[in-house]
Amino acid sequence: MDAILVINAGSSSIKFSAFSVASHKLEPIASGKLEEIYENPHFVVKRHNGEVIADKHWPSGEKLGHDKAIAFLLDWLRSHGEGSTLLAVGHRIVHGGEAYVAPVRVDAHVIEQLEALIPLAPLHQPHNIAAIKAIAAQNADLPQIACFDTAFHSSQLPVVTQYALPPDITQQGVRRYGFHGLSYEYIARVLPDYDHKAATGRTVALHLGNGASMTAMLNGKSVASTMGFTAVEGIPMGTRSGSLDPGVVLWMLDEAKMDSRAIADLLYKRSGLLGVSGIASDMRTLLDSDAASAREAVELFCYRISRELGSLAAALGGLDAIVFTAGIGENAPPVRARVCELSRWLGVRIDADANRSNGPRISGPDSSIDVWVIPTNEELMIAQHTLDRLER
Ligand code: ADP
Repeated sequence: MDAILVINAGSSSIKFSAFSVASHKLEPIASGKLEEIYENPHFVVKRHNGEVIADKHWPSGEKLGHDKAIAFLLDWLRSHGEGSTLLAVGHRIVHGGEAYVAPVRVDAHVIEQLEALIPLAPLHQPHNIAAIKAIAAQNADLPQIACFDTAFHSSQLPVVTQYALPPDITQQGVRRYGFHGLSYEYIARVLPDYDHKAATGRTVALHLGNGASMTAMLNGKSVASTMGFTAVEGIPMGTRSGSLDPGVVLWMLDEAKMDSRAIADLLYKRSGLLGVSGIASDMRTLLDSDAASAREAVELFCYRISRELGSLAAALGGLDAIVFTAGIGENAPPVRARVCELSRWLGVRIDADANRSNGPRISGPDSSIDVWVIPTNEELMIAQHTLDRLER
């Protein structure tokens, strides 16, 4: 059996999925993660049917780091691969910059160019690259394909991506890029299976997970997005603030005497749902909580989403459909209900029963805009790109 491995390497964890390949078709086999690789490593793998086939803890205090974690993972796959042949590895890479607007096979030159983009995504890019290098060091001949979270947004016009800053700044790559592109691309690909109008018309997709963003699509192409230069712009997220008046950051520097590291820590790790509620970043916990601060955090989340929906509808010159996806979008009926209630002015009417059972269509017959719940699958998108790239 031939297989493709998909890797999503973060700062402290490495997530992976394995797919079998037979007559150009991909089937999920297993997925898992190695978590807390710098502290108390923990490895779990589940078969596609949910059965746990590995669950390993390292002694407390032990650290693996990216190189050893990748070595462990490849060894484990080799000994549990049941004679399958690994054809290639596909990576989720956060930033492709201006140059990479499609998946690319990685070589030394590509790695160099991806490293040059580290200043644009210092929290993600170095870890994405570390995984590529660790695999190359152990399997020099194994093809590795980089798939970019920014690429899907390369269809946006300059007026959309430009910040109102002078050229000495913008010429250094300071512009809006947009992220979660692999998720939006997957949604755009499956939309025709759900509805012709949503697939070809003016559609806003809401990727609401721990990271959250929204993208306006026209005929399945990205027109505008809430995330910009970095993945902190836009709507509030689990622990990220979303958009702020830049004056707030200046206030933090000059008045609160915070340095850039403290500000980054605050904006990326201690804000959003967690910062406002003081309870949790996890939507499930907040929806289950009776605390006023939990309600306040959820309401702020929904309010900001509804404001951005208006903005993205303006970018599209109208709105035909809304698609909810990712952890919150796929599983949190109260959030979808509130966002739709705040969007009544657009003609959105929800069917309460359909919403409770997660759709797929959750708008009522009286709604002038169709509202859908569609599960995303970034891993499958990466596996598909990897296979396409290999076969080309
Ligand atoms: P990531 O961005 O890390 O991939 P996910 O897409 O898995 O994250 O989304 C995680 C979010 O989805 C969390 O806030 C989690 O609470 C939320 N979520 C998952 N299941 C539910 C549920 N049944 N009800 C409400 N929220 C949920």
